[in-house]
Amino acid sequence: MYYMKLDRSPQLEPVQIMKMEKDDKKSKTDKPTPSIRFHDVAGLEEVKEELVEIIDFIKNPEKYYKMGAKIPKGVLFHGPPGTGKTLLAQAIAGETASAFFPASGSEFVEKYVGVGAKRVRTLFEKAKKESPSVIFIDEIDAIGAKRSTESNNEKDQTLNQLLIEMDGFHSEQTVIVIGATNRIDLLDDALLRPGRFDRHMFIGNPDVKAREEILKVHIQNKPIDALVDIKKLAKRTHGMSGAHLSNIANEAAILAVRNNKKQIGIDEFNQAIEKVVAGLQRKNAVVIEKEKRTVSFHEAGHALLGKLLNTDSVSKISIVPRGEALGYVLYSPEEDRYLITTKELKNKIQVLLGGRAAEQLIFGEVSTGARDDLKKANSIAYQMVCEYGMSNLVNRVFDISLIKNCYSMIDGEIKNIIDECYINSISKLETNLDLLNRVSSELYEKETLTGEELDLIIKDFENKPECCFAT
Ligand code: ATP
Repeated sequence: MYYMKLDRSPQLEPVQIMKMEKDDKKSKTDKPTPSIRFHDVAGLEEVKEELVEIIDFIKNPEKYYKMGAKIPKGVLFHGPPGTGKTLLAQAIAGETASAFFPASGSEFVEKYVGVGAKRVRTLFEKAKKESPSVIFIDEIDAIGAKRSTESNNEKDQTLNQLLIEMDGFHSEQTVIVIGATNRIDLLDDALLRPGRFDRHMFIGNPDVKAREEILKVHIQNKPIDALVDIKKLAKRTHGMSGAHLSNIANEAAILAVRNNKKQIGIDEFNQAIEKVVAGLQRKNAVVIEKEKRTVSFHEAGHALLGKLLNTDSVSKISIVPRGEALGYVLYSPEEDRYLITTKELKNKIQVLLGGRAAEQLIFGEVSTGARDDLKKANSIAYQMVCEYGMSNLVNRVFDISLIKNCYSMIDGEIKNIIDECYINSISKLETNLDLLNRVSSELYEKETLTGEELDLIIKDFENKPECCFAT
């Protein structure tokens, strides 16, 4: 027991616990070794290099024991969703012919005290029996979140059991525990200390080269038209995860079947990208005229500011509803960026606020259409203040646990950034009002404009003095 807390969770009779355990055992058959290998995981070269040592350890444990070296017990993969964390864990088991025991943190979250802990114990018992084995716990934050003074007896017992199990391997038992989370900042320190999950590997979204390789993995069993340029597709899918890319390849294949094609062509890939980015096209959506006009100005505002501020290049603007959105602008960044300046972040916010700014300017009032834009803009501003030290509080950053105490100060800084950007968005669009009207009316007529069409419209205005482009 790590520490005592007030117990507010309901207790279960021992007989009931035994019955639930039995059910657990019945529902979970032993998993075979996965067939996934490292070559199925595209990109992530540095991570794979790091893992080679662990793989060698599982394959030849005596070599390390002779030297008195201890096997690393826990590896923690952290990073955004869909980036290949589960795939990598499967590949480790596949490469080492180990038994694979996947679980999700949420499976251990139970209402009844003791059930989660029992499940952890059962999982580890099975893995030890099948050694060498790999236990993979996805969403480990569901059970490994920082313990607080607020009591949750069941959660604490489950986490404690996990810690006890990780401490308790015998040297001849080769069991590697791999945890995965999107939120490493939430994890309890006890879980991260040496001897437990002490190897942390960040699995981020793929860069352009890795995206190309991931796309190649996912089209290798599909008939692809020779005109499809995978390099170009990789460039156009900036910011997407491996899961998005595998989804695009699959959607393109389904579309090719629907279009009675023998091969998957560039049209199918284009449609698949749009579907993944913006959701399903709502062909029969009825948008009233007034709303269509509002959406035209809103999207024109985004696209125009993107051009004026020279942020990511616009590849398409549309007011054909897709998913929940009544319109959208697709951007295709030229290159992967790892460092972004204050000015560039503010430019991004201005582009995000461009839709609302255009509505304000033209109609004198704003609509609910900017909900998602506002979320994204505020999230960038929050990161600038709390993580990047890019506010008036210069070079200060705020740990998540401190934010509650400094909320009004942080909120004031976020407000400063958002207000400044919004004023700039309005003023830039005001200076280019003719152009805004022109782009919006073309969009209203055609409903979709390509990046090239937008460039042509802008070219007409380039010589006019009121259209000033950012340097
Ligand atoms: P989450 O955090 O949401 O659990 P994850 O990081 O575990 O996601 P995976 O389940 O491993 O993501 O990936 C989802 C799918 O995306 C995989 O089944 C695979 O098809 C594809 N994928 C992701 N990354 C890669 C990659 N590097 N190479 C090949 N395919 C990938």
